[in-house]
Amino acid sequence: MVRKGRCPVMIGVLALQGDYEKHIQILDMLKISSIEIRYPKELEKVDGLVIPGGESTTMTDLMGRAGFYEPLRLLAGNKPILGTCAGLIMMAKSVCDSRVKPLGILDVEVDRNAYGRQVHSFTDQLPVSLNGKTDFISATFIRAPKITKVESSVKILSEYDSQPVVVRQGRHLGLAFHPELDGVTLFHEFIFKKQFEKTHAA
Ligand code: GLN
Repeated sequence: MVRKGRCPVMIGVLALQGDYEKHIQILDMLKISSIEIRYPKELEKVDGLVIPGGESTTMTDLMGRAGFYEPLRLLAGNKPILGTCAGLIMMAKSVCDSRVKPLGILDVEVDRNAYGRQVHSFTDQLPVSLNGKTDFISATFIRAPKITKVESSVKILSEYDSQPVVVRQGRHLGLAFHPELDGVTLFHEFIFKKQFEKTHAA
C-alpha cells in the first residue's frame, strides 16, 4: 500500500513482520510518503527504508526466502536505512546468535534480548544529540538488544546505562528501542527529511 505525503521522498517500510504499521504512522505524521515493502523489486521505488522491530530470527528466515539480502545491501550503498530493535539487529555486522543472519550495514556487534525478557520491558527518558542539540525523548525497550561493540566508523548518539542505544554510520541509524511506540518523530525526520534536504540543496 502506498501513502502519499507532502514531502518529496518515498520511504519504504519493510513489512514482512513486526510493528511496521507504527512506522507508517510516524511517517504520516511527518507528511512523508511511504510504501510497505514485501518484495525486493519494490525497493526500486524508495529513497530510504525502515527495518522495524519484531523478531530477528523470523526476519532472517523471511528475508532469506524472499531474496532480500543482496538488494538491501545494495540499497544501503546509497539510501538511508533506519533500523529499530530487531531492525538494528538485522543491520549489525555480527550478532551473538547463529540463527540470525545480519546484513552488515552497521559496524556494530549486538547481543539479542540482552535487557531481559518481555516482562523486563521498560520506557525511560533518554537524551539524544542530533544536529548538535540535545532532546529528551521517551524510549521504550522491548526485549531489546545491547550494542556490545562499536567500530570507529560508528558514532554513538545516545547511551542508556552507559550502553550505546542510538548509533549512526554515515546515512544510517540504528536504535535499540522503539521510537514509533511513543510517537517520537525525531529520528525519521532526521534521516529521511533533514539529510535528504541537505543532499538535495543547492
Ligand atoms: N528480541 C527481538 C529479536 O531478537 C527484538 C525485539 C524487538 O524488536 N522489540 O529479534
